[in-house]
Formats: sequence, C-alpha cells, structure tokens
Amino acid sequence: MTPDLSLGEVKTSLTPAKRFEEYLQSRGMRSTEQRRILINHVFNHHDHFDADDLIERLPTKGQPGYVSRPTVYRTLTEFVDAGLLRKFELDGRGVYEHDYGYPQHDHLYCQVCRELFEFVSKDLVKLRDEVANNHRFRVSSHRLIITGTCEDCRKNSSRTRRKQDRV
Ligand SMILES: [Zn+2]
Ligand SMILES: [Zn+2]
Repeated sequence: MTPDLSLGEVKTSLTPAKRFEEYLQSRGMRSTEQRRILINHVFNHHDHFDADDLIERLPTKGQPGYVSRPTVYRTLTEFVDAGLLRKFELDGRGVYEHDYGYPQHDHLYCQVCRELFEFVSKDLVKLRDEVANNHRFRVSSHRLIITGTCEDCRKNSSRTRRKQDRV
C-alpha cells in the first residue's frame, strides 16, 4: 500500500497530457497510444516510483494497454525532458516523481522501510538562498534527502529490543 502523499498542487495552465503534447510537437514527435497510456498511469496520483514499479502496474504482455520495457524507459526520459517528471538517484536506482504542477519539496528517506516522506520548509529555502547569495551563485534548484529511520520503524525496533530483553 502506498500512502497518498500530496502537498497540494501548483496552478498550471495545461494538464500534463497537454503539456506533453506540446513538447512532442515542438520536437516533431507524435503522440502515440503508448505515450498516452503511460501519461495516464503516471499522472493518476502523486508517488515516488522507479521504472520497475511502473511496469508492475501496467497490463502484462498480450493485454490491452501493454507497453514494452524499452518504451517505458524511453517515455520516462521524455517526461523528464518535458519537465513533467523529476528524476533522482536513491540507493542506486532511478526514482521518478511529479514535477509539473507539484510544489517544490524535500525528502526524508527511511533506510528501514525505504519510504520517502515529503516536507516543505521555508526556512530551508531561505538558508539555501543565503548560502547561494554568499557565493554569488544563482539557484536553479536543489535536492536534499535526509536519511535515517522513521517513527514507525523506530517504534518497531525498540519493541523488538524490549521483547528480547525480557527473554
Ligand atoms: Zn521506516
Ligand atoms: Zn517527493
């Protein structure tokens, strides 16, 4: 079960599908059935996923809506290129999430359950701008991932420990 994480939305003039169509047109590419299937799947709800997660959710070979693995990889790259998705590396895998229409945020990453938790901090952005300013640096974006153990996982491990102590 994936929790429905959502920090709300940022107002955009186009839907992701429309924006992608414009991107394709600007590059002389066609909006294929497979691209449409993928955009619907990906923009259904906000999530962090890798290519394998997405492939797992798609219909299997021979079923309507099936998209081959190479096409999934290629189209995800197009989504990133079009500014619809953001990609980052985590534990050696490429993780994607919505960028277009989604607020700027940062992540806490639990190394036990491997869940990504989102947060927004104005103070952090202020500090970032100050640091950049001090270095006469112009910010285009930043990425911060705080790694550690989430509350649930900490509770679980201390419960286990207590049980072991009693034995
Ligand atoms: Zn956890
Ligand atoms: Zn996120």
